[in-house]
Amino acid sequence: MIIYGSRVVHIKSVNPKSIVCPSCGSVGATLLGTYRSHIHIFWIPLLPLNRIGVAHCANCKTEIRKRNMTDEMKKEYQYLKSESRGPIWQFSGVFLILLIALFVNINAYLTKQKEAEYINNPSVGDIYELNMGYKRYSTAKVIEVKKDSLCIVYNIYETNMSSGISDINTEENYSNDIYVISLNDLQYLYSEETIYRIIR
Ligand SMILES: [Zn+2]
Repeated sequence: MIIYGSRVVHIKSVNPKSIVCPSCGSVGATLLGTYRSHIHIFWIPLLPLNRIGVAHCANCKTEIRKRNMTDEMKKEYQYLKSESRGPIWQFSGVFLILLIALFVNINAYLTKQKEAEYINNPSVGDIYELNMGYKRYSTAKVIEVKKDSLCIVYNIYETNMSSGISDINTEENYSNDIYVISLNDLQYLYSEETIYRIIR
C-alpha cells in the first residue's frame, strides 16, 4: 500500500500596519501568511505544489483567501511572496529520485567497465549470459583460456525470461561438448549483446 497525500507548510507571516480589515475596519490587525503545500509519499515530501495566501484579522477572526483579498492586501501579499521562498526540503523526493537515478547510472557504467575487462581477459569459470533470440536465454561457461581463443561449454537448458537464468545456471546443466571460440568472436558476441551479462 502506498501512503500518500499532501501537507501544507507555513512559510512566513507578516503584519502590515496599514492594512484595513474589510470586515470590521480594524487597522493593522490583519496577519498575512503564505503557505506552500507538497505531495508526500510515505511522509517523504516529494514535490511542492501551489502557494497559498491567507489574511487573518486578529480582531474579528475573519479569514480571507487570496482571491478575496482587497487590492491593498494583494499588494502586500505579492511582496511577502516575492521575498519568502518555500523550504527546500519540500523537494526532498525530487533530490532522492535524482540521487537514485545517478546511482543506477554510475552502477551501470561501472558494470560495463568491469565486463569490458572480463571480455578482454577471460578467466576460467566466467559465465556468459546469452540472449539467443526472442524469449530465449541461456548461459555458457569458460572452461579453458588459451592465447587467442577460449573453450566454452553451453548450458543444455534455456529460459524464456532473463530473470530465470540463475535457476538453470548449475554445474550439471552444462553439456560435455566443448566449443572453441576466438577472442575476436567473443568480443563480437559481447558488442552485439548476444552475451549481455558476465558473471565472475
Ligand atoms: Zn476584522
